[in-house]
Amino acid sequence: MRKNERGVPVPTVKRLPRYLTVLHELAAENALWVSATTIARRLELTPIQVRKDMAYTDIVGMPKRGYPVDGLIKEIRRFLGWHKNREAFLVGVGALGTALLGYTGFADKGLSILAGFDIDSDKVGTKIHGTEIFSLRRLTELVQRCSVSLGILTVPPKAAQDVADKMVAGGIRGIWNFSSLKLDVPTDVVVQDEDISAGLALLSIDLAE
Ligand code: ATP
Repeated sequence: MRKNERGVPVPTVKRLPRYLTVLHELAAENALWVSATTIARRLELTPIQVRKDMAYTDIVGMPKRGYPVDGLIKEIRRFLGWHKNREAFLVGVGALGTALLGYTGFADKGLSILAGFDIDSDKVGTKIHGTEIFSLRRLTELVQRCSVSLGILTVPPKAAQDVADKMVAGGIRGIWNFSSLKLDVPTDVVVQDEDISAGLALLSIDLAE
């Protein structure tokens, strides 16, 4: 099974945000404790799976009571690093980049996009959803100066490797890659590919005649 850099199975990491959604629902219902069985039922998982996933965090369930709802929310957020603020730069302020700049859901996941970058001189110097857009020429310098560790890549595939190289040269340690190009980066740089066309292909093939 594919594991992430910390040895946590990727499916477990992907389930953690879904647990948070359920836990926030339970907190809104004033629940103080929750069992693995209740979480499992709401997400159509097995209680064993839920307990296995929770075992990767530091939270320990209590016999008969289960997990404290608030404690579990805090622990999952801490485990994911969502309790801290992580600053990112986004490169390629087209339709997708603009949508990501306007998405408010990143704030409670510890992500703030400090600035955008583009080669289009009509965009450079403007603000999009309140975020200032800089020339690509300043990317490496500003990554270095602001100690930004995360880059979001929303340029066309043909520009993606060059932009990734500039990010890495500045000290970026993680790239969220929406470009559909397989990036060549040093082994200590983490890349998360978000290929929207691949997702659509999976959906389309099931709908195809
Ligand atoms: P638009 O029509 O506004 O260009 P789009 O989403 O159709 O948007 P794409 O061709 O996907 O455009 O490009 C996304 C964005 O990436 C655009 O804003 C484009 O100017 C920018 N871009 C293209 N090449 C680079 C590059 N090498 N460095 C930075 N930004 C780039």
